[in-house]
Amino acid sequence: MSIVVQGVTKLYGSQKALDNVSFEIKTGEIVGFLGPNGAGKSTMMKIITGFMPPTTGKVYVNGIDTSAGSPEIKKNIGYLPENNPLYPEMYVREYLQFAASLYKSGISVREQIDRIINITGLEPEQKKKIGSLSKGYRQRVGLAQALIHDPDVLILDEATTGLDPNQIVEIRNLIRDAGREKTVMLSTHIMQEVEAICDRVIIIDKGVIVADEAKSDIYSKISSSRQTILVEFDRDPEEAMLSAIPGVDSFRKAKDRIWIIEAGGEEDIRPAIFSFAVNNKLTVLSLQKQESNLEEVFRILTT
Ligand code: ADP
Ligand code: MG
Repeated sequence: MSIVVQGVTKLYGSQKALDNVSFEIKTGEIVGFLGPNGAGKSTMMKIITGFMPPTTGKVYVNGIDTSAGSPEIKKNIGYLPENNPLYPEMYVREYLQFAASLYKSGISVREQIDRIINITGLEPEQKKKIGSLSKGYRQRVGLAQALIHDPDVLILDEATTGLDPNQIVEIRNLIRDAGREKTVMLSTHIMQEVEAICDRVIIIDKGVIVADEAKSDIYSKISSSRQTILVEFDRDPEEAMLSAIPGVDSFRKAKDRIWIIEAGGEEDIRPAIFSFAVNNKLTVLSLQKQESNLEEVFRILTT
């Protein structure tokens, strides 16, 4: 089931949250919607799911205009809203029953709830009140709610924000498994999330799409552009010696014995740094390649 966004603009008063946004997501794709806070991610997702109309432009899910409020759309889309508003006084099972009753999916509701509780690992918590669950389990309930009617399209808004590292891994695995037979769009401001789950990334900044690439292309762009290495020697080298390392563009001292070395080009600069150290009777105490962060991705893709 595909998603087609055509020239969507959204104004909040005089503020333009989305500015003529267009993209398509094909059936079965898992797409990361990446951007800093305030970029327009949640706004776009509310429009795709039919919760809010665009000011101008159109969104079609499986060919159906989502602004028309068609019940077909709600049946086909599972939506995990940002901050996942749940009902704290409801019990997990009761809430999922309620969510299922909104859709009349045609399958035995009880069986479906059992299946989803199993998939999302909620068995141990199913008899508890939502308000008493940890954030990770509340997020599972949110995902269970989004999956309960077995939709073909999943729209997940910041599904892992605020979770601890173990919970993040678990929720990512859940999304990856659920995404095997579905079309998935997930928003995040974390590049690593895209790396872990997605096939493709759409980057939005200030309401405008600034990049739309297969994940592998994004990485080749980043890795072939710049390498930043943080290296600690047992003593400070002469600056003139450092500049002689083949491939090094620039370097600066971060603090005693710790240097930041930058290099361009495709070839990994780290072996050259090691040979430099050996040749100059220095010892490398640690060496770290700085991971590309979101800011860097933006800088590279937008310049
Ligand atoms: P993101 O999810 O990428 O953080 P949002 O879609 O939530 O971005 O917000 C995009 C912009 O629109 C932000 O500047 C935000 O302040 C503004 N905005 C979002 N919702 C509303 C609203 N209901 N009323 C007014 N402005 C809003
Ligand atoms: Mg948001």
